[in-house]
Amino acid sequence: MFGAVIHAPGDVRYEERPDPTILEPSDAIVRTVAACVCGSDLWRYRGIAPVPKPTPIGHEFCGVVEEVGDAVTTVKPGDFVVGGFNPSDNTCPVCRKGAQANCLHGAHYDGAQADRIRIPWADGTLLATPGTPDEDLIPSILTLSDVMCTGWHAAVSANVGPGRSVAVVGDGAVGLCAVLASVQLGAETVIAMSRHDNRRRVAREFGATHIVTERDEAGAEAVKALTNGIGADCVLECVGTESARLQAVGAIRPGGDIGLVGVPHGDLPINDLFWRNVGVKGGPAHVRSYLPHLLELVLDRTINPGLVFDLDLPLSEIGEAYAAMDERRAIKSLVRP
Ligand SMILES: [Zn+2]
Ligand SMILES: [Zn+2]
Repeated sequence: MFGAVIHAPGDVRYEERPDPTILEPSDAIVRTVAACVCGSDLWRYRGIAPVPKPTPIGHEFCGVVEEVGDAVTTVKPGDFVVGGFNPSDNTCPVCRKGAQANCLHGAHYDGAQADRIRIPWADGTLLATPGTPDEDLIPSILTLSDVMCTGWHAAVSANVGPGRSVAVVGDGAVGLCAVLASVQLGAETVIAMSRHDNRRRVAREFGATHIVTERDEAGAEAVKALTNGIGADCVLECVGTESARLQAVGAIRPGGDIGLVGVPHGDLPINDLFWRNVGVKGGPAHVRSYLPHLLELVLDRTINPGLVFDLDLPLSEIGEAYAAMDERRAIKSLVRP
């Protein structure tokens, strides 16, 4: 089979790779229908995270089960499935508390931007759709593998709920999904922080009530101007850079809650947050926890998170899929084998 392999910063190749096989009785093999490039893949592509040796890459996918191990009971060959970026058994004591991202038996994929993927803990990781979904729903289902669940996690972590005001830092696919999640969770004011036309359009479509184009301190001031001068009840930080994190700290009101889902590359002024009684929570999304509810919302067409994909390429053009996101020509790239 063929799949994407990152060799060095800026160098992702479409290469022949060995076909995956069942290694554990709890494994499944999925034939990929669609996969995509994640903002977190770009950390390595941009040389911010190391690439010590050529490595298969990608962790977001949906597809059809081809084969299952003897212990797998909830999915079978022929099922259309989606799974989270962080495989989990969904049965250990941590998973049973709903914290599947921190599964005691957590595992990784050996590159999901590929024709076929070995899925560890198939029962705990995959969720099958009832029948084969309509073709136009595939992009939205694919977002449940990471970005939509991650945006949802940001909102849940920041206690977004009815009547609350929310500011979202970051206009990548996760930030846009965080806007959609906040609207779904009943927020009254949803402020998207973005200076790109195409991203602002998606934010509006997802239900953002306000757009702030300023950044850093000016951005925080603009959020305060929209929230009685005190800052937002909830700030969702969906980037991870130090400036984005400080922008979140500047935009939160005293006693508010910050949800963090951007992979952290910089400190938080924790003492300042202490004196202002600001809550901070977040981390990698508990995808398996959110997946059933969000899949229902996608299948009944309540939400359409697939709008974050503005580039759709054959898997063989994976290099361009990365370059377009790196150069911000695309919000998010979908690839099909
Ligand atoms: Zn991802
Ligand atoms: Zn577990």
